[in-house]
Amino acid sequence: MCAMSQQVLYAELFKDIEYKLTNIDDYAWGEELYEFPLIVYTKNRSTIPNYGRVCQEAVDVGLITINSHAEGMIEVVPALYWPTNKNIYIKDDIFNKYWRYLRKSIAIGIENNPEYCKEHGIEKPEDIVELRVLRDYNHEPYIQGGKIKLKIRKQEQPKQTELKRARQSKLDNPKNIFFYSSNRDGSRQLHDKECEVLDSIPDEKFMGSPEVPDGYILCRKCKRKLLIRMGCYPNTKQIPTCSGFFQKYRVSTTELERMVDMGMTFHAEDMSVMTINGIEDTWQVRAVGDRVSLWHNNYVKLSDTERYITDGFHNQKCKGNMTYMLHYIESYTWKKHLEGEEQKKIKDEEEACVVAVEAERKTHWYHRVIDRIKRFIGRK
Ligand SMILES: [Zn+2]
Repeated sequence: MCAMSQQVLYAELFKDIEYKLTNIDDYAWGEELYEFPLIVYTKNRSTIPNYGRVCQEAVDVGLITINSHAEGMIEVVPALYWPTNKNIYIKDDIFNKYWRYLRKSIAIGIENNPEYCKEHGIEKPEDIVELRVLRDYNHEPYIQGGKIKLKIRKQEQPKQTELKRARQSKLDNPKNIFFYSSNRDGSRQLHDKECEVLDSIPDEKFMGSPEVPDGYILCRKCKRKLLIRMGCYPNTKQIPTCSGFFQKYRVSTTELERMVDMGMTFHAEDMSVMTINGIEDTWQVRAVGDRVSLWHNNYVKLSDTERYITDGFHNQKCKGNMTYMLHYIESYTWKKHLEGEEQKKIKDEEEACVVAVEAERKTHWYHRVIDRIKRFIGRK
């Protein structure tokens, strides 16, 4: 922690204007934004990806930043926030007006949260900004001098158009999960279809694959999204919800990687429950306010070792956070469950034996005393 927090430094000034913020549902300090992708849109909201859902679920937010020339020094930058995927949407002209202030605030957040930023490949404020909405066939957006500019693309030759089409068809193929460059001398990283790094791969080297090609590793920047895409495949529509669920209950990327490595899959249609296919069984992690509970598929025991799985779930009474529950699911198999029961049975039998011996010894002692008393009375 070395950069001075604006939230702390300007708390008094913020108090003076806070009561005026009646036109927004919530606000966030610029220095908190390192955790939130900032999507720039243009013209109107219909250019926002997933526009329908965003419109229903997003809230108006104010992004708080510092401008020494503004009245009261505090700027409240209007934006939209979609809690499901933690994206913030900002209009291009608003972005151009305020980015030079916001960028300073975000830089403070990055400096003060090195661990998170390193894990998510965020080195500078521009790394959280997504300009994809502004890109089209003829224009390439970029940020220069605090503003978004558009580069005119060169008119393409037929061969280039053909390559572009081939690239798009690889991207559109629902079987493809991993995208990468065929240049094996490069960094050999695999990307999610929405990763910005893909834009630096030329069309003629652009590859897509349903499987991990040999010798490639997951890109640090899009790893989390890629793992979630793998885990809920083929339900790509559930990615924002699953992503929101893991974020809310603080499941780390390392943990997600472990789950996916073990072949576990997950599904969530809303934020109330996530269904997880474990090693053999099916589980549900259900939201209970800020906490979660773990539910296990019902089954009927046919014999000491056999069972069949039936409808519905029962509460596993597993206490802990979501990561703890995931570890529980990862280690559960029916065989281990039976071994556990067997161990418990042996332990119970041993304990019962100890109690019996104790009881016998006590009886002996008791009888001895009675006998002695009887003898004593008899003598009298
Ligand atoms: Zn990537």
